[in-house]
Amino acid sequence: MVKDTTYYDALGVAPDATEQQLKTAYRKGALKWHPDKNQHSAEAEDKFKEISEAYEILSQSDKRQLYDQYGKEGLEGGGGMGGGMGAEDLFAQFFGGGGGGPFGGMFGGGGGMRDTGPKKARTINHVHKVTLEDIYRGKVSKLALQKSVICPKCEGRGGKEGAVKTCHGCNGQGMKTMMRQMGPMIQRFQTVCPDCNGEGESIREKDKCKQCNGKKTIVERKVLHVHVDKGVQSGTKLSFRGEGDQIPGAQPGDVEFEIDQKPHPRFQRKGDDLFYHAEIDLLTALAGGALYIEHLDERWLTVEIMPGEVISPGEVKVIRGQGMPSYRHHDFGNLYIQFDVKFPEKVNGPPDSDGYPSSMTPEQVKALESVLPPRKPQNVPPPDSMTEDYPLEKVDPMQEGGRARGATQEDDEDEMGGGGERVQCASQ
Ligand SMILES: [Zn+2]
Ligand SMILES: [Zn+2]
Repeated sequence: MVKDTTYYDALGVAPDATEQQLKTAYRKGALKWHPDKNQHSAEAEDKFKEISEAYEILSQSDKRQLYDQYGKEGLEGGGGMGGGMGAEDLFAQFFGGGGGGPFGGMFGGGGGMRDTGPKKARTINHVHKVTLEDIYRGKVSKLALQKSVICPKCEGRGGKEGAVKTCHGCNGQGMKTMMRQMGPMIQRFQTVCPDCNGEGESIREKDKCKQCNGKKTIVERKVLHVHVDKGVQSGTKLSFRGEGDQIPGAQPGDVEFEIDQKPHPRFQRKGDDLFYHAEIDLLTALAGGALYIEHLDERWLTVEIMPGEVISPGEVKVIRGQGMPSYRHHDFGNLYIQFDVKFPEKVNGPPDSDGYPSSMTPEQVKALESVLPPRKPQNVPPPDSMTEDYPLEKVDPMQEGGRARGATQEDDEDEMGGGGERVQCASQ
């Protein structure tokens, strides 16, 4: 005997209604009283909530049991939608939400329906490493992947037609409610059905499909052609919809490739521009010369530095249009060259009388003075002040290396010595 029939009355069914009868009753009622079909009707809104609440409780066998025995008071929090899902969520779940379910799209633009989307196999992600040369020229990479596909022999059933039975242990739910005695209490808990391992169905060993061994899917090797377009940016994701895993009862998954550019030994890329580091000697920087750059498509660029152009250390120059091709535009970025000017160890002049390996003749000095700007002496002493002459000597790294590096280390040592003395004083 049922204590309270309110929920059954709301759905218009008898207290001994089957699961299927409850389902049918909810479907009819929900479609009839849905707020989208009954704009501004408070009565319809109440009705919709009522039947949603009733169905939410009665469709769950454990809750229905409690309700039958104790009425609404038997339910946690007195029943209702409090701890459960909202009426709209229940509706969306029941009818498949979005445009996917059989009734989907019925209430075009209906508010509140959450688009849960149809079930879909997971996405296979792969990072595709490519060289800067590949991106410069563009290429098609053939990439093989292992994926599961619906077994062609049993068409994903796992066995001969009719051989797949709904599991008796769980009625095809895959989950089972078990009971456990905990002292004076009986605890109910949900567990994966041990008979079918949560599959909800069973196949006798001898009826299992020979090709997939009842697993419904087989592993297949698939080659995908990934277009690495000219100028594509590192980090770009290329999607192959539906090329991923296939599993029974769900949409096939996607495959996603992420383009990842390997570091390049000569060039750095920023957007569509390339950056190149060139080391030139002082003579080239001042008197001109040629610089050769191997590009990304086996071309060699000859860069002419004009005599007297004067390239300073760290200076950046640009060659327009020799950067990367811009993605999907018929255009190119720029090639920026940063110069490092290497000063000579020595000049080619006569040996110095003080032991220096080379010096300059007065003629050589004159020649340089004729092309370079005049000397700008720093900190010229005031007229009539006394000055003393000193020669510069070479630093011997073996003997004076420590001192030449800077005075910080010596300072530290002094402090330590002083500190030691202070400790001695204090202890006397
Ligand atoms: Zn099979
Ligand atoms: Zn089972």
